[in-house]
Amino acid sequence: MKSATGLSTQCIHGGELDDAHGSPHTPPYQTTTFKFATTADLLDVVDGRKPGSLYTRYGLNPTIFSVEQKLAGLEAAEMAWAFCSGMAAESALFMAHGRKGIVCLGDAYGGTLELLASQLPQLGMPTHLMLGSDMGQLDEILAKGVGLVFFETPTNPTLEIFDVHAIARMAHAHGALVAVDNTFASPVNQRPLELGADFAVHSCTKYLGGHSDLTAGAIMGSKELLMPIWNWRKNLGTTIAPEVASLLARSLRSLVVRVRQQNASAQAVAEAMTRHPRIARVLYPGLPDFPGHALAAKQMSGFGGMVTIEVKGGGEEATRVADRLKLFALAPSLGGVESLVTQPCTTTHHGLTPEERARRGISDAMLRLSIGLEDADDLLADLNRALG
Ligand SMILES: *Cc1c(COP(=O)(O)O)cnc(C)c1O
Repeated sequence: MKSATGLSTQCIHGGELDDAHGSPHTPPYQTTTFKFATTADLLDVVDGRKPGSLYTRYGLNPTIFSVEQKLAGLEAAEMAWAFCSGMAAESALFMAHGRKGIVCLGDAYGGTLELLASQLPQLGMPTHLMLGSDMGQLDEILAKGVGLVFFETPTNPTLEIFDVHAIARMAHAHGALVAVDNTFASPVNQRPLELGADFAVHSCTKYLGGHSDLTAGAIMGSKELLMPIWNWRKNLGTTIAPEVASLLARSLRSLVVRVRQQNASAQAVAEAMTRHPRIARVLYPGLPDFPGHALAAKQMSGFGGMVTIEVKGGGEEATRVADRLKLFALAPSLGGVESLVTQPCTTTHHGLTPEERARRGISDAMLRLSIGLEDADDLLADLNRALG
């Protein structure tokens, strides 16, 4: 790897393998296995005496190795593992480090909640789901000897901000590890490891992929904590495919400029929406009166591309606005170059009862906007027209 200090330089040059043919970037090695000159050479790799490629599901493929070095650099981590999805990354993390018990703080991605609330307990793994408003109980739960604290910040869709440094201190005092799902912020805006977390977890499907054309996941952290995850990925069979690793590396090269532009457009959209007469509330960490603003300003270097607006007139009116938007596509994802709109009560939080949504502070009138790379003026014109 070339030495690179700045994040943009790291995104472009980190992990790139020098190629015999002069390719400026690592080409995709679309191969499942690798040949050796002699059995002795093969055994050197199998027994770990020499680094090398061997079998793609193991992650021992140059394209995967290359994107993992780039991913590690993004979070200033010693190592990274790349997976076939964000949920695959979380599953392997939970298997390797969550068997003593997992605490999930605050709202989390629907798949994460389902895995923690109903699937891992079937394997006998203790899980505790707590809202931000229950934070007072964290110390008590940690005292029971939980292995892993997991949370997102900002959360979906209310963009609640959790104090990574303070939570890591509390968890570490009880011998628990801390994993932050950094998907919403991206490493451009927040680096959980530098704030004291042990793992940064990503759905690369979102900002890191950035073009709504690949599904992948990653975990970054120390070698000591990542090594026990390797066998779980290998035998659950959830390694990233080399073709996807190559596409992800291509996308990462432009991550910083994409996310910075998304931050700027999101700020402009959020500010304009606060002045719109048909909007009851705007949730965005970059607004000075947002409850998590001061903490976000302290631990983030940008406020992100996600904006949640609450439309006056309730859930049905919010649905009408979502259906009238033309430039914003109605789709339940985020982080791509194209702007998307989602009504949480009909998609991400549809499975919850209205009472449970209310307990989580999610109203039917909320629309979650993922701000893409279109001109901010065009996005605002679309919103203004749809709001009528
Ligand atoms: C999408 C998402 C996931 C799951 O990622 P997949 O790549 O779809 O498996 C996990 N966490 C967050 C915050 C997400 O947005």
